[in-house]
Amino acid sequence: MKKIALILAAQFLFVGAWAQNSDEALMKKAEKIHRKYLTIDTHNDTAMYLNHPDSEDWSVSKGQVSFPLMKKGGLDAAFFAIFLDQGPLRDSSRDSVYQYAMEEIRLFKEYVAKHSDEAAIAYSPKDLRKLKKEGKKSIVVFALENGYGVGQDLAKVDSFYNAGCRYITLCHNYTNDICDASRYENPNGHGGLSEFGEQVVKRMNELGMLIDVSHASTSTLYDIIKLSKAPIFASHSSVRAIKDHPRNLTDQEIKDIAATGGVIQIATGRWCLTNVPKSETKIVHLADHIDHIKNLVGPEHIGLGTDFDGGGGMVDFQDCSKMKDLTVELLRRGYTEKELEMFWGGNFMRVWEQTIKVAQEMAKEKK
Ligand SMILES: [Zn+2]
Repeated sequence: MKKIALILAAQFLFVGAWAQNSDEALMKKAEKIHRKYLTIDTHNDTAMYLNHPDSEDWSVSKGQVSFPLMKKGGLDAAFFAIFLDQGPLRDSSRDSVYQYAMEEIRLFKEYVAKHSDEAAIAYSPKDLRKLKKEGKKSIVVFALENGYGVGQDLAKVDSFYNAGCRYITLCHNYTNDICDASRYENPNGHGGLSEFGEQVVKRMNELGMLIDVSHASTSTLYDIIKLSKAPIFASHSSVRAIKDHPRNLTDQEIKDIAATGGVIQIATGRWCLTNVPKSETKIVHLADHIDHIKNLVGPEHIGLGTDFDGGGGMVDFQDCSKMKDLTVELLRRGYTEKELEMFWGGNFMRVWEQTIKVAQEMAKEKK
């Protein structure tokens, strides 16, 4: 009897040690993957917080992204969006929001320059790969969230590109001069892209700028799919079949985006992931969205766009120091190293590089 008890106790100890080792082994594997492959988060709203740390005007959490936290989490690069709240569609507001956006970009460049020992700005996929290889710095890429800043002036698309923005989220929650939004569909809107919006899409193709469809309405999305020569890119959107939210993408939309060779960068935060209480929203819920897209269209069309400092994050994924914990969860679910390489940046880089190739081909045709 004693002998049996001893054997059972030994087995129990063995299983316990194995489980611990297995978690440790997964984290070791995750660390290796993060060192080896380019890891990218395509959406945060941190720039305005870092530009104005003393402002009281924060409706969402702040400080989920910093260069030290990126290092800790094994996150190489992040797209820092300049977020524009939607105001009236009149000339004076269009002008002032454009001035504001340019000033925010200038301020954030200054911030990065002040931290040049920790961070550097990338303007191309080449820059990203080079900085990753050097391995020393957190990589910043600029983006514009809300084409409201473009107003009705096509030249401003060029201005944002020249200032360093590499994608424009065409709208936020409301109809602007470019298109209709998913959140509050406007019966008096454009019914998708406006005529001006069509010119914006064409110009962005010519510049090799990513057209971000997150926040766009379904009709806007399909107008872009029809018109754009580049693969479709959603910088921070999740799955409607799991969480019924107008900002999330339906299975049909996901299939149609994948058919363009595009990528869906899954957003985080309870609002887009699940109906369980915020205090119970975890990495497993995020991983369910990633699984869903993988099972629906394959592993070539998924990435991550956290929406940190803009509503993103969960109790066990509070900031960008937790990136490796997500990798551990995906390893636990059987994701291969190759699939994780694709998820963390390979898929997005394919889309970005293809977008630039389209621009080069358009330039050749023009000659
Ligand atoms: Zn957003």
